Amino acid sequence: MQVLVVNAGSSSLKYAVVDAGSGQRLISGLVERIGEEGAAAGDHRSAFAFVRAAVQESGAQPRVVGHRVVHGGERFTAPTVITDDVVAGIADCIPLAPLHNPAALAGIAAAREEYPDLPQVAVFDTAFHATMPPDAYTYALDRDVAQRYRLRRYGFHGTSHRYVSRKAADLLGASPVAVDVISLHLGNGASACAVRGGRSVDTSMGVTPLAGLVMGTRSGDIDPAIPVLLQQDGWSAFEVDTLLNRSSGLLGIGGANDMREIHQRAAAGDGSADLARRVFAHRIRHYLGAYLAVLGGADAIVFTAGIGEHDAWTREAVCAGLARLGVVLDPAANSATGSDARVISAPDSPTTVFVIPTDEEWAIAAESAEVTAD
Ligand code: ADP
Repeated sequence: MQVLVVNAGSSSLKYAVVDAGSGQRLISGLVERIGEEGAAAGDHRSAFAFVRAAVQESGAQPRVVGHRVVHGGERFTAPTVITDDVVAGIADCIPLAPLHNPAALAGIAAAREEYPDLPQVAVFDTAFHATMPPDAYTYALDRDVAQRYRLRRYGFHGTSHRYVSRKAADLLGASPVAVDVISLHLGNGASACAVRGGRSVDTSMGVTPLAGLVMGTRSGDIDPAIPVLLQQDGWSAFEVDTLLNRSSGLLGIGGANDMREIHQRAAAGDGSADLARRVFAHRIRHYLGAYLAVLGGADAIVFTAGIGEHDAWTREAVCAGLARLGVVLDPAANSATGSDARVISAPDSPTTVFVIPTDEEWAIAAESAEVTAD
């Protein structure tokens, strides 16, 4: 079955028609700068009219539209066929994702108008983590405040963590319920996830995708008092948000948000860039150790997304010296390049380390097809 997969941002619309069975793309593209002066599309509706025309011209025949939605709050714990009530539920999560959910809703509204006869499915970044126990998702805050503002760990990148952890089980020749996996999604955004028997039991992102690992421009974990100190010195909430989300992370420490540029600068003797990549790797080790303890050891560790899939330096820095914890890399396998899923641990490593390319679009297509099939 062909699925039109849509990822709507505030000023962009990424789309692809994906065969849910094979993952093959029949067409894919990106409408950018929506609403900006001189742009091809003035709003999401006209962007979607463009998408429908392009899809039609390609000969693709989607039967379902699958939407990536960042935040599903506590309500959405699985891919969900979109109704007016579901739209209201996604709107209800806007306070938790003030930039992302309105964009997703604009994409959904446009798609429902352009494709009124097709079922529409929302696939949530948070859904896979709905299985976390309260021990892992509860913040040690005043309970009334936490409840009023719905403050708890939700986690993101769920579609990717689910996809690669299932793939790891597959490659181990086991059912997902029989294995424990630590998934490390390292792209511009980055998160770690502990998966016990196919279910997320802990993850590094929180109410928002700012928590946890060091990212391209996001700080990840910091002392929670830092925003308070800055605000006491006159910083506005907006300025603090901009600092933590846009000018921190690899960019903040090392002057570039792209890991390839960080490596180039470090190789040229730039100490700040070298520090940035070492802080990045140290934080991942920190979570890897934590999740080995949460799970009581793991059958597999998976590296995925841009840095996880391509950056041997980071994988080596994360896994070096962990033999006592059951993790031994094979240096040659780690340095080899390739685009297929592969093992990079030594044959006698108790924990198998994989590089597994993620494919969120295919996962969204497959999940959308599954929930609409009856
Ligand atoms: P996004 O989260 O935007 O989907 P990606 O998964 O594409 O991001 O990851 C982007 C990151 O991957 C960037 O930091 C980029 O430098 C890094 N990356 C991509 N290719 C390589 C490579 N060959 N070596 C090292 N890092 C890479």
